[in-house]
Amino acid sequence: MRHKKFSACAMAAVAALTLSACSSGDDDSSGSEGGETLTVGIKFDQPGLGLQKGSEYSGFDVDVAYYVADKLGYSEDQVEFVQSVTAQRETMLENGQVDMVVATYTMNEAREEQIDFAGPYLVAGQGLLVKEDDDSITGPDSLDGKNLCSVSGAVPAQRIKDEYSTGVQLYEASTYSECVELLGNGTIDAVTTDDSILAGYADAPEYEGKFKLVGEAFSEEPYGIGLPNGSDQCEPANDALNEMIEDGSWDKFLEENLGDAYTPDPATNPPEVGGSCS
Ligand code: GLU
Repeated sequence: MRHKKFSACAMAAVAALTLSACSSGDDDSSGSEGGETLTVGIKFDQPGLGLQKGSEYSGFDVDVAYYVADKLGYSEDQVEFVQSVTAQRETMLENGQVDMVVATYTMNEAREEQIDFAGPYLVAGQGLLVKEDDDSITGPDSLDGKNLCSVSGAVPAQRIKDEYSTGVQLYEASTYSECVELLGNGTIDAVTTDDSILAGYADAPEYEGKFKLVGEAFSEEPYGIGLPNGSDQCEPANDALNEMIEDGSWDKFLEENLGDAYTPDPATNPPEVGGSCS
């Protein structure tokens, strides 16, 4: 689903990479009375999940964000999207630059020490994206001697370093679109991150026929909505996510945004929403 919305604040913030001027602040983020804003960190460069094109935002995470915001009492006009790249998400929540993050954000213990999560609302799994004509990479154990790209601060980058192929060269970019560019021009051999994200790139019109996902998913990445520690929006967000799954919106958002490109593992999806609220 595409949402058109001009947000001078969000766009200026992205340009300047200083987002504090757009924050709704600590004391006005718990409801919509008085017409205040909910500032939501999303990805701007992940087709099918979180994508910004001019003043349009689209993707599964965007639809989830609008749905939850609505249940929390915010209209679409009150939602401001800002870019939150992987490595910046906890920091942006901790210093109030965003009120929530809906950005392919894996819930895990290390992050839960810093922030709260509502969710999960989707369980993805780590995968590998290679060039369409590459038959030499078949899974995480066939990466020795290869150049791999992932994103700094991401769980999948860390997993490769910790658990797989010691002979792999890992380049850590700041966004996945940078990795995909490098794969396209042959600088690297594979991109690793969640299969949902990789499927979104493989299916994007500009990359049609260029890339393929290989092997089985080799992790579980439960996506949560990141919130500041102790947020009183955490339980209401869990309730909203449950409703989203029960009323059919979850299926609809998946179909509209990822369609045939990606089918989440039915053994773990739709997930049981439990949340990690402090
Ligand atoms: N879900 C993984 C993570 O949160 C990878 C995707 C991302 O970098 O946003 O680390």
